[in-house]
Amino acid sequence: MNISLQRKKGSQSLPDLSKALPEKGLKRSDSTVKLDALPEFLADNEFLLDGHRPELNSIPECVKSAFFLHTETCNIWTHFAGCVGVVILAIHYLLTESQNWHQSLSFAVFFAGAFICMGCSTVYHTLICHSEPYARFWAKMDYCGIVVLIVASFAPWVHFGFYCDSSNLKLFYLGSAFLCGMAAMFVVAADRFRGGEYRVLRAVVFIVLGLTGLGPGLHYIFSHDMWPHFYFYSWLIIMAVLYISGGIIYAVRIPERLWPGKFDIWCQSHQILHICVMLGVLTCYHGASKLAHYRIEVLNECPDI
Ligand SMILES: [Zn+2]
Repeated sequence: MNISLQRKKGSQSLPDLSKALPEKGLKRSDSTVKLDALPEFLADNEFLLDGHRPELNSIPECVKSAFFLHTETCNIWTHFAGCVGVVILAIHYLLTESQNWHQSLSFAVFFAGAFICMGCSTVYHTLICHSEPYARFWAKMDYCGIVVLIVASFAPWVHFGFYCDSSNLKLFYLGSAFLCGMAAMFVVAADRFRGGEYRVLRAVVFIVLGLTGLGPGLHYIFSHDMWPHFYFYSWLIIMAVLYISGGIIYAVRIPERLWPGKFDIWCQSHQILHICVMLGVLTCYHGASKLAHYRIEVLNECPDI
């Protein structure tokens, strides 16, 4: 059953039913409300007009609500599926593909980053309707998870891009990515930059952080034979295009901005961002695993490493 609780604008006679939801004994995990019945902290996308969960003030109710259709259902399940997929991919790769411990380590860092990102996102989208403190805390975790994924994606690429180079060079690039990631976290997790009005700023921070990969990327491509290394590099470009496209779509909120109310449940911008992130993770994995295979098994470079 889907009970639509609506608070008409300007109506004095109707109580704000969303405020009554936390009362004990009320099972509201399958309820949805219209945008104008939401508390301010949940109403951060004015183009999604209906199908919102009310404030639930209960973790079990928030979890149960994941099994009903509302504005966050698809966001919850896309990244939950991503988490499961990453675990399966990690087990497969680390047990059957990896040739040595440093290959395992560099890919484990990447898999862990992807898991943390999509795991935090799943929890965030599940618990955002609990209460304002939960929404605020898990939004920060969600943003930090994206930063972790971006920085962790550097690990296999830097390791195998500079496979035969000194450890200092790898440490320099990984350390730089780590420091840039810390700086990005400092911005996206700051209280003053939370809220929908800073959506563009956050997207820009994520995109700029991702673009710091241009440094080691260009170094890698120009310090090796252009071919076939450009083949591997092209996967990085595809990954960047996916992340940047997702970031822009998230920032401008298309398609719901163009047709408000038509994408409340399906195909809203945030869901497109999630799909872009998942495809970006797959692209990163595919390119990095091909590069690792090429350098270790085809070229058989630096067997002492
Ligand atoms: Zn999300």
